[in-house]
Amino acid sequence: MKCPICENGILKKGTIKETMFGVYLGEFPAEICSKCNESFTNSETMQKIEDAAKKKGIWGLGKKTKITQTGNSLAVRIPKELAEFLHLEKGKDAYIHPDKDKLVIEPA
Ligand SMILES: [Zn+2]
Repeated sequence: MKCPICENGILKKGTIKETMFGVYLGEFPAEICSKCNESFTNSETMQKIEDAAKKKGIWGLGKKTKITQTGNSLAVRIPKELAEFLHLEKGKDAYIHPDKDKLVIEPA
């Protein structure tokens, strides 16, 4: 089967190491392009990846949030589940910095 992304490579059966939010979920079967290395998984594998993420407690941690204003600064609302996962607590110090075009907040 031809790769639908680059349209040059051939898809071959292989395994992919899947991570979500930097947490390793395991190896899963996938079709991998011989040219561009793009990988494709079927719905059954997608379900297994979802189950693995749920087991690790990270499923659904990625969420949309609104940026609001407090004084001259901007404020980001951190959902409860995300705060608990990262052990962020009210009144505690955190370190905030950019990572290319992303914002990183780490417990200090
Ligand atoms: Zn390809």
